Amino acid sequence: MLTYKAPVADINFLLKDVFGYYSHYQKFPEFEEATPDLVDAIFQECAKFCENELLPLYQSGDKEGCQFDNGVVTTPKGFKEAYQQYVEGGWQSLSHPVEHGGQGLPPSLGMVKSEMMGTANWSWAMYPGLSHGAMNTVETHGTKEQKELYLTRLTEGTWTGTMCLTEPQCGTDLGQVKTKAIPNGDGTYNITGTKIFISAGEHDLTENIIHIVLARLPDAPAGTRGISLFIVPKIQTDQQGNLGEANNVTCGSIEDKMGIKASATAVLNFDNAKGVLIGPENKGLECMFTFMNTARIGTALQGVCSAELAYQNSLIYAKERLSMRSLTGKKNPEQVADPIIVHPDVRKMLMTQKAISEGGRAMIYYAAKLVDEIEMAKTQEEREQADERLGFITPILKAFLTELGLESANHGLQIFGGHGYIKEWGMEQIVRDARISTLYEGTTGIQALDLLGRKILLTRGKSLNNFTKEVLLFCKDKSVLSKNPHKRQMNKFIWPLSKAVANWQQYSLRIALKAKKNRDIVGSASVDYLMYSGYIVMGYFWAQMAQSAYEKLATDVENRDFYRAKIKTAEFYFNRMLPRTKSHAKTMMEDPKTLMQLDQELLSFL
Ligand SMILES: Cc1cc2nc3c(=O)[nH]c(=O)nc-3n(C[C@H](O)[C@H](O)[C@H](O)COP(=O)(O)OP(=O)(O)OC[C@H]3O[C@@H](n4cnc5c(N)ncnc54)[C@H](O)[C@@H]3O)c2cc1C
Repeated sequence: MLTYKAPVADINFLLKDVFGYYSHYQKFPEFEEATPDLVDAIFQECAKFCENELLPLYQSGDKEGCQFDNGVVTTPKGFKEAYQQYVEGGWQSLSHPVEHGGQGLPPSLGMVKSEMMGTANWSWAMYPGLSHGAMNTVETHGTKEQKELYLTRLTEGTWTGTMCLTEPQCGTDLGQVKTKAIPNGDGTYNITGTKIFISAGEHDLTENIIHIVLARLPDAPAGTRGISLFIVPKIQTDQQGNLGEANNVTCGSIEDKMGIKASATAVLNFDNAKGVLIGPENKGLECMFTFMNTARIGTALQGVCSAELAYQNSLIYAKERLSMRSLTGKKNPEQVADPIIVHPDVRKMLMTQKAISEGGRAMIYYAAKLVDEIEMAKTQEEREQADERLGFITPILKAFLTELGLESANHGLQIFGGHGYIKEWGMEQIVRDARISTLYEGTTGIQALDLLGRKILLTRGKSLNNFTKEVLLFCKDKSVLSKNPHKRQMNKFIWPLSKAVANWQQYSLRIALKAKKNRDIVGSASVDYLMYSGYIVMGYFWAQMAQSAYEKLATDVENRDFYRAKIKTAEFYFNRMLPRTKSHAKTMMEDPKTLMQLDQELLSFL
């Protein structure tokens, strides 16, 4: 019942008009093939695959789920065939380096591909999605031999990868990891322990699965400083990649869970499984950050995907469903009632969804450009600069966009009324599937601590200042009162944005000062601080989109309605969503006392 059309016009608007992606590609000789013609052709093919192959499996995959039988996991009907088509189409290799069989196109194009696939079918997209993180980890930290062996197959898509961090006693606090790695003296290690909640940990899509596993060497220091990283294949291979004996990794079960039912979430038992070290001893967590950062942006994307799918479907419904009359007089006199889209409350939900999916997409594409820059950096300084900007924005993207994606999914269900609660329509599935996004890859609370604790307080606001400098530069440039009419029109966005940025800096400083006296302020303020920051960041991108739309209105007569819609959505965002910062600001500045003063014994009298 659900429909999906890839939003190619919105995507192109961001790539071409807002972010100037084609001149960005021209800066790097490696990306010279990424011309508008080639990119358009890729998008068309990708859209076809998503709309015709992946979307039809979205609801059936949820209904059927994955099956577990004695260690063997079977994915829902059609998943394997769609994966085969994906591999044959070269989709997995699209934006990976040529030397390992990739097509060498920019990572940012891979992000657009992932967006389309993830919106059409998030559960399916998780299987190839996890592999990208595994590939980036091997690419960054692997030896020449490891790259040759693992990257080639992962890039083709004939093998997939996983990320094995979580254990029964710990998901957030990885310092508690117990899995052991005993050296065999020949460069291999025996890995023993239990990992839980491993996405794509076992399945029938590929002949082999490459697990990237956190474990402890003998006598390793306690806590996070004693964790190393290992590559552990499901099936052992020779250096040429020919499959040999099964390794001692077994799937104990898969989880019966709330959503993403077609994505297998496995319990993996490692029982003296053979593995090799990747990266330096006891530096596993640092190496794993490569994986986790890729995965965090990938999860932020899930917020946009949920928002987009919910929006597209609730918009269709809101135009068709008839209920009562518009408060300003009949809009549909020949019918028994007006469609619900005429009611301001329904319109508010739709506009919120639209602002979230288009604003969220802009935030992701901004980050994708930084990923390109990191990958192509010629000097350490260039890499560090782009890395710092990406590191600052990543927790905001992950937590803010997944919280808003969930909000949009809920609005979608609400617009369908009682029918939204009925499975047949698919809207409740979007809510169930979106719910995980605020949990895995670090919960919203943990992202918020990362932002406020590590990225703001630890750097004494350096990353924040770099980002706000960029926003203020934009504001200064666009607000100059000039004869050019669209520059004057931009003031309705520029003034509130400049004010919000100034407040952001002030509040950050005030929190830093308070934290000197009471560390609990960091934990009590952090989630509100993150959401507050998220609304300002999204405001910056809505202002940029409005600016580009004003510019295009003057030249592109054919698509004027499209640009007008962007400007009106920006107005909606600034008038009805940016003000949410006020409530977050009030709460984040409150004394932690009101959270902590009630003795835990007095929390309940049962
Ligand atoms: C469907 C699914 C797929 C997953 N896929 C993978 C995967 O592929 N690989 C993998 O390794 N893991 C995976 N996970 C695990 C996931 O990343 C963890 O569940 C998540 O990070 C949270 O860890 P936890 O469940 O142990 O919760 P806990 O760490 O026990 O946290 C419980 C609550 O306490 C809060 N909390 C904890 N510590 C603090 C603190 N210091 N300050 C403030 N609040 C705190 C958390 O925010 C949370 O609200 C998956 C989980 C699920 C459900």
